[in-house]
Amino acid sequence: MPQVFKPLLRLSLPLILLILSVFALSKTDLINTGYLQLIGFLPYAIFALVLGLAHYFNRSRFFSAAILMSGGFWIIQTYLQNSLLETSTFYLFNSTSLLLPLALSLLIILPERGLWNIHGLLPLSISPLFCAGSYLLYVNLDEAQFQTIEAWFQLKPYEGYVLSINASVWFLFSLLIGLTALFLRNTEAEASMCACLLFVFITFAFFDQALISTIMFSTAGLVLAAGLLRSSFEMAYRDDLTGLLGRRAFNEKLRGLGRNYVIAMMDVDHFKKFNDTHGHDVGDEVLKVVALQISEVTGGGIPYRYGGEEFVVIFPGKKLKPCIPHLEAVREAIADYSVTLRNKNTRPPTSKEGASKRGKSVKHQSVSVTISIGLAEKNDNQLKPEHVLKLADEALYKAKQNGRNCLQH
Ligand code: GH3
Ligand code: MG
Ligand code: MG
Repeated sequence: MPQVFKPLLRLSLPLILLILSVFALSKTDLINTGYLQLIGFLPYAIFALVLGLAHYFNRSRFFSAAILMSGGFWIIQTYLQNSLLETSTFYLFNSTSLLLPLALSLLIILPERGLWNIHGLLPLSISPLFCAGSYLLYVNLDEAQFQTIEAWFQLKPYEGYVLSINASVWFLFSLLIGLTALFLRNTEAEASMCACLLFVFITFAFFDQALISTIMFSTAGLVLAAGLLRSSFEMAYRDDLTGLLGRRAFNEKLRGLGRNYVIAMMDVDHFKKFNDTHGHDVGDEVLKVVALQISEVTGGGIPYRYGGEEFVVIFPGKKLKPCIPHLEAVREAIADYSVTLRNKNTRPPTSKEGASKRGKSVKHQSVSVTISIGLAEKNDNQLKPEHVLKLADEALYKAKQNGRNCLQH
């Protein structure tokens, strides 16, 4: 699948939950009035679960989002149940509809730095500041200024739609920032928080609907909890440097393979020498590029980082011969790709070498690597996955003996 669609896939669970919550909204009249008060606690219970999980996994953005969302829900339940025509309710409704997208988009933009440090809790601190500023503005407004604000944030611009046009544009702008960050970083945190933005927007846009805030904020809490669990799964199963599935995922896949499959073992050629020449940091950058090329393998191959500069690709349900062109394409793509080093990377690692080069201009330099591939298939029912892996490893050794940058089976 093209890389560009992968971030969108992360929004599929939130969108399914959104459809279910819209369905739940249409059925609210079936809820026994005795249960209504109990249901009002549901978002708090879910946000408490998110807080516990975020604390356990040391994730500041999820932690802050859960506090922010429960605060928003508390304001809605405590102060916004009166008519929005009342001055104070009108003002608070609009302030909250501006604060939540602002704080959520800040949470999306800021990097994850772990919980108990100043960076982790920074996004949270803007909310009390915003509330204090908003309150001070409110108590100092004169009649004319209030009328200007009223005109700017005129509610119910359309039948059944409560949010003002300007606040709607504000939401849209925040959502665009969120989606940009999701495409650039492609993690569960951005996807979950974009979904929260959408749920909060729907709440404010259709505020007149019975139970809308309870249902939408509960769903947002579920999306945050699911996002946290999925990102923890990724931490355990994905390799941090390359983003590929790691050894743990590979071992599990190996146990569940069927009767036919092919395993390709790949190893970067002369990588020790490459590191010695260009430094370990450049080596890491090149490994990322190699992994990206391997991740685009066609023919149904599933790539893993096996360890160090070794990768494996599994082709479930496939025979050996048809896999060869797909792997040759990867090998050629890697050999043809060159990485341009910036000046700081071309700086020699020792001060002695640096001194000998001083005075000479350092030009941009292109580097490239090649890989060797060993291929084996399970065609004998007695063969265990470990045996197939060993055969692939032996074929890889043959490829290295044959001069490298080639495939052997
Ligand atoms: P060959 O062509 O025979 O595979 O030679 P090689 O030098 O690649 O083989 P060897 O297994 O001796 O060396 C692997 C080197 O890969 C050792 C280590 O410096 C480097 N390496 C392993 N993991 C990483 C990594 O995560 N980052 C970097 N930069 N280098 C790594
Ligand atoms: Mg090796
Ligand atoms: Mg190697």
